[in-house]
This record gives sequence, structure tokens and C-alpha cells, in this order.
Amino acid sequence: MSALEQELAVELKKAEIKYVQRATQHFGRPDFLVNQGRCAIFVHGCFWHGHACKEWNISDLWRSKVSAIMSRDLEVRSHYKNSKIKYFRVWECELHRFGARRIVYKINRFIHGH
Ligand SMILES: [Zn+2]
Repeated sequence: MSALEQELAVELKKAEIKYVQRATQHFGRPDFLVNQGRCAIFVHGCFWHGHACKEWNISDLWRSKVSAIMSRDLEVRSHYKNSKIKYFRVWECELHRFGARRIVYKINRFIHGH
């Protein structure tokens, strides 16, 4: 489990949101499943998932790997559009900016449909 996932896990526990970690049997392997399996949470590191929050100084060596991950992410996201399971993505930069507690608050609102 990455440090980012760990931060989120701690706050999910505090908020008494039950979760399953590393839901490998689900499409795209969500990092967390919450709300009795009705919401899949993906925690994305900004570099590897090619977030547009920064101009990445990325070497050619990694460029193809990053673009492969990005197209996989798109595929996963569109899969959940047609699913009963809701998709929730957390970016690393958001976690740093808002803190895990605020992100969990957002997740809570999201799963309750506000
Ligand atoms: Zn970012």
C-alpha cells in the first residue's frame, strides 16, 4: 500500500467508513471499495497517472509507461460510467492540498449523492 493510500485509509477509519482495500476482483483494481461495494476509489499518484497539475519533466523512458497508465485509467473510468458502482478518483496533489480528512468528507458526500 502506498503512503497516499495509507493516509486515506486512516481517515476512512476515523470517519467510520468501512472499506475493502485492493479490490482485485473488480475492474481496474480499485484501491478502496466503500459503501458496501457501491463506490470504487482510485488513488492516483500525479506523476504516474499523468495529472495535468504540473508540467512534468518526463524522460522518454517513462513517457510510454505513463501514457499506457493514462489510457488504462480512461478505460477504467468509462467502465464505471456504465456500472452500478460509482467511480471516485483521488489525486495525490488534492490529498496534499486538502488533506485526507477533507477528501474523506468529499467521499462521504459523494456516496450519499450530494
Ligand atoms: Zn496532480
